[in-house]
Amino acid sequence: MLDLRFHDAGSALSHKQFDHVVAIDGPSGAGKSTMTSALANELGLLYIDTGAMYRALAYYFDKTNLAIEESPELLANLKNLNFIYGKDEHCLIELNGEDLTEKIRENQISILASKVSRLPSVREYLLDYQRSLVAKNICVVEGRDIGTVVFPNAFCKIFLTASPEVRAKRRLEQLQKGGQDNVDLDGILEEVIQRDKRDQEREISPLKKATDAIEVNTDQMTSDQAIKKLAELVSEAAKKANIEL
Ligand code: C5P
Repeated sequence: MLDLRFHDAGSALSHKQFDHVVAIDGPSGAGKSTMTSALANELGLLYIDTGAMYRALAYYFDKTNLAIEESPELLANLKNLNFIYGKDEHCLIELNGEDLTEKIRENQISILASKVSRLPSVREYLLDYQRSLVAKNICVVEGRDIGTVVFPNAFCKIFLTASPEVRAKRRLEQLQKGGQDNVDLDGILEEVIQRDKRDQEREISPLKKATDAIEVNTDQMTSDQAIKKLAELVSEAAKKANIEL
């Protein structure tokens, strides 16, 4: 993995600088992480998981008992964090020296992340951070607001989705694989619906399909079929935009 260390916090980079991005947005559990990282791998592009960043900040709020509310000093506080995405092959995310790669995958952090992600300072901090990471490379960036807000000039925008029922089933399997067995399908489905609602209804950067994004529904697709479809869409878009992958 390339060293993506953040050197330039608070630089307020303009979105106009970035068109060399594949933006993949969509609700939780649509298979974004698995498919997007496989896609990036196949195309030899850099993969950025913005959800992991919101999760890391959720972990920070939880650990430090910080109230999940906006405050005048919140942005300055966040800028003081030592926040490193993509430190090395093993460490996806480090915060103040603590490796959070595994910890951010806990179910309670998923719920908290969608609450923390409503705070304007959190969004502003991560927007700048994400733009700073993409400064040089063609990247595949996944999230909720990548094609609408973070990189509106992305040459390829995909909205990856699946029905709540299919997403809940996939999430259940994922959690069980990770050793969490105190979970049931109905409970997960309810969480999926609530997270969708919070993500779609928040005031800043809500989850929505960019008008120029292509929607791909993965309900009836295997992971391999979806990755193939995504790779085709990216190649077509790159050709149109005259971008060499
Ligand atoms: O994608 P993932 O499930 O890891 O994201 C966790 C939470 O972070 C989402 O439910 C969403 O609330 C938030 N998020 C966001 N904007 C992004 C990526 C994630 O608000 N670009």
